[in-house]
Amino acid sequence: MRQDFLPFTRPAITESDIHAVVDVLRSGWITNGPKNQELEQGICELTGSKYAIALSSATAGMHLLLKAMKIGPGDEVITPSMTWVSMVNMIVLAGATPVFCDVDKDTMLVTPESVKQAITPRTRLIVPVHFAGAPCDLDGIRAVAGAIPVVEDAAHALGTYYKGRHVGQGNSAIYSLHAIKNVTAGEGGIFCTDDKELADEIRLMKFHGIKVDAFDRENRGRAPQAEVFEPGFKYNLTDMQAALAASQLQRVVNINRKRQELAMRYRELLADVPGVQPLSDPAGYGFTHAWHLFIVRVTADDITRDVFMSELKKRNIGTGLHFRCAHLQRYYREVMGFKAGMLPNTEFNSDRICSLPLFPDMKREDVDDVAAVIREVLAH
Ligand SMILES: *Cc1c(COP(=O)(O)O)cnc(C)c1O
Repeated sequence: MRQDFLPFTRPAITESDIHAVVDVLRSGWITNGPKNQELEQGICELTGSKYAIALSSATAGMHLLLKAMKIGPGDEVITPSMTWVSMVNMIVLAGATPVFCDVDKDTMLVTPESVKQAITPRTRLIVPVHFAGAPCDLDGIRAVAGAIPVVEDAAHALGTYYKGRHVGQGNSAIYSLHAIKNVTAGEGGIFCTDDKELADEIRLMKFHGIKVDAFDRENRGRAPQAEVFEPGFKYNLTDMQAALAASQLQRVVNINRKRQELAMRYRELLADVPGVQPLSDPAGYGFTHAWHLFIVRVTADDITRDVFMSELKKRNIGTGLHFRCAHLQRYYREVMGFKAGMLPNTEFNSDRICSLPLFPDMKREDVDDVAAVIREVLAH
């Protein structure tokens, strides 16, 4: 057995990341400033989006999006239930109705067919999730969406490409810089869009709804006063955080390549292990996977996923669970009346998935350890 505990994840922090943060601390300007700008520029260059707005979290971006689109009572938003609860909670808090679409059983991605089935005359927005770092079929989803806006939950997908282009292009997309994500600020998020009006609104609303009147500046020849145009929120990112993410962003290609190497090793070692089944790649289009997560389904009939996870832990292997489906969590069951049986592929996976250790500082031998432990646990 391993002597040391192998966690499910660990942020990839280098000495240069640490220096970048310390430089901000010494600079005299620690909240949003030049490092936010540098991060936003870097994100635009990587993703090809015209505008990027740094925020305190991806969840904040979802909140601002719903506000900017004036989504509220009577409106429906389509999103998978196999996701982190952020978007679903924000939809409910806006007074709108989440409409869940099922996912493909083996990729856990929403499909154009599942989105199409969920569309009604009340649908105002579609939010697909690029699960684990693999892209959804964006062209297919766009085609069924017609005039309904598509905003991508790209929390797992910094460095994910669909048909040779970074995800998010042509739509808006929201990235997360949470501690476990491929590039992190500790906490943080980025809203990306090509729509200038939407970008301006998100930027306004992220900081109290305050701006300087351009008319004042140009026509009255006096120092303009910033003032509230509409009540906004406090969702800005500090420069300490932005500096960390900007520093990591320079290495995103290497970070994701390392993740991919480890993922391929897992696939090789687990291919002939009965009782665990890794996710499949999406079929029918070219892609680059960001490998945010390496997920297996525990399909053996003599061990549950929860026992599997605790047996791995006893043997010094940490695991994660991404995610327990949203629609069967207490509030959604009891208050909103969602029931088991509504989303068969989502529920199948929700009961069986487990995320194996995957982070850039892991070694090939660590993957070998995990695979050996999995074989041992399933053999007993
Ligand atoms: C992490 C995550 C979010 C939320 O990101 P925060 O930055 O923590 O708000 C949203 N959706 C998915 C799929 C995520 O994994």
